[in-house]
Amino acid sequence: MTALGDLLIARIARTGPISLADYMADCLMHPEHGYYATRDPFGTAGDFITAPEISQMFGELIGLALAQAWMDQGQPADVTLAELGPGRGTLMADALRATKAVPGFHAALSVHFVETSPVLRARQAQVVPDATWHDGVATLPDAPLYLIANEFLDALPIRQFLRDGDGWREKMVGVTDDVLCFGWSDPAPIAVLAHRLADTKQGDLVEYCPALPAIIETISHKIDAFGGAAVFIDYGDWQSLGDTLQALEAQNHADPLQSPGAADLTAHVDFAAIARHAAPAKFSRLTTQGVFLERLGITQRAQNLARGLSGNALNAHISAHRRLTHPSEMGDLFKVISIYPALATPPPGLDP
Ligand code: SAH
Repeated sequence: MTALGDLLIARIARTGPISLADYMADCLMHPEHGYYATRDPFGTAGDFITAPEISQMFGELIGLALAQAWMDQGQPADVTLAELGPGRGTLMADALRATKAVPGFHAALSVHFVETSPVLRARQAQVVPDATWHDGVATLPDAPLYLIANEFLDALPIRQFLRDGDGWREKMVGVTDDVLCFGWSDPAPIAVLAHRLADTKQGDLVEYCPALPAIIETISHKIDAFGGAAVFIDYGDWQSLGDTLQALEAQNHADPLQSPGAADLTAHVDFAAIARHAAPAKFSRLTTQGVFLERLGITQRAQNLARGLSGNALNAHISAHRRLTHPSEMGDLFKVISIYPALATPPPGLDP
């Protein structure tokens, strides 16, 4: 058992079982032992590889899409270009490089990162030294907000509930024989799941992300008041159904209770929850990553880049393009949704 595992076992012995969200929060962000708090998990040598680390094209196209949204809204001055959970800062660095030639865009923007991990903040500062860092979205400036979040919402802790009659049993993390184990609470009504009684049956499992509503509402209110657009990219679907909690350690699936703090824990994103909290701004239709990137012109960009490559570098570039867009790779699993002002159009690549 890891050091964090021992702490959790002692805590549960003292005060009883904890919710899955409390468990995930400690595993990911415990200041001393949390997964993100203590390491840089990205890249081919790390635990997993994300779209901006696969190819520069990803950040370039997203940067250009946000710059186009800025132009479509009349090129406002003093705008925020924000990213939630920027990882190594690769996406933003690529976005800034690609938008250098957009007249007036760089002069109008300041870069803001929402990031809790000190290790990753240091890493981000190496590639985007002029950024301003925040612990949460609440302190982002009151200004037009152009925001990207890739694989951020999937890292937020979730609770899991099992339908039982008209109530729900919650999955808890407890201890049996000095080992962490899952159990279920007694059934109780859960107000935020009232709308799920219509589409679930006895024994169905649903997931709920308690931090998501406040994050989306804060962003939506800023976009409604000041303008801008937010683009969320993640794996998941329109409505959560079933257990999507996943632990990854050294690029392999692991038991989520086996090594707390040493494995990445994620869950699929319930995009309907984003839409439910988008008012007073609007939300775009849910689009797959593959379609979104194709509409933004990834194939033309890939062909341009390919001209300067040969041999292994060319093969790696071709497979990166395929990995980002092909339905059997990330193209269909990852989805894109945008929040944008009621009187505006969605950013390019997305439908109202
Ligand atoms: N967007 C990056 C990294 C995704 S991993 C990429 O695509 O490569 C998740 C990121 O979110 C990490 O940077 C992690 O430290 C950060 N993060 C996780 N939970 C967070 C929270 N509650 N608040 C702020 N940042 C968080």
